[in-house]
Amino acid sequence: MFIESPANKTEKRGWIEVITGSMFSGKTEELIRRLKRAKIAMQQVEIFKPQIDTRYSEEEVISHDENAIMSTPVTTAGNILLLSSDVEVVGVDEAQFFDMGIIEVCNQLANGGTRVIVAGLDMDYLGRPFGPIPGLIATAEFVTKVHAICVKCGNIAHHTHRKMDDEKLVLLGEKDLYEPLCRKCYFDSRTTNV
Ligand code: ZN
Repeated sequence: MFIESPANKTEKRGWIEVITGSMFSGKTEELIRRLKRAKIAMQQVEIFKPQIDTRYSEEEVISHDENAIMSTPVTTAGNILLLSSDVEVVGVDEAQFFDMGIIEVCNQLANGGTRVIVAGLDMDYLGRPFGPIPGLIATAEFVTKVHAICVKCGNIAHHTHRKMDDEKLVLLGEKDLYEPLCRKCYFDSRTTNV
């Protein structure tokens, strides 16, 4: 299993880590844990998130337990490259909401010697692979799937279930609309709702 590697100061080596899973699985907490450890090691750290995510704060990555660190909201993935010169560790939260260019951006950073840590939803509420996350998983050195607990049966949750029917994919600020479900409970809820 992958544990944080110290940056080699004499030879810059970059790589990509992806932290993914359903809502309420602790992705942001895990991202923050890794970034805080890098900061303790006096590494230059920058955190980015898509401008679209304004649930709590314009300037912080905030996990649901309010364990927060400062971040920079950007409108496009390309902006991350412009703001990442001389940065040793780049964190990206809510990566599923970025354009597909985020894949190339993360790889360019890693090629240039930056450690890139990306957190994002693996699937949307319909169970479809979410935006650029599959491409990030494919090109990452390290992938961590984290899991929530199914609110119906207590097994490992795999899906983000939307409790109300709505075609709009992004419903920020309304996380109460969602619940984590295991594969079986998700499948059962979808067949009974139709
Ligand atoms: Zn279940």
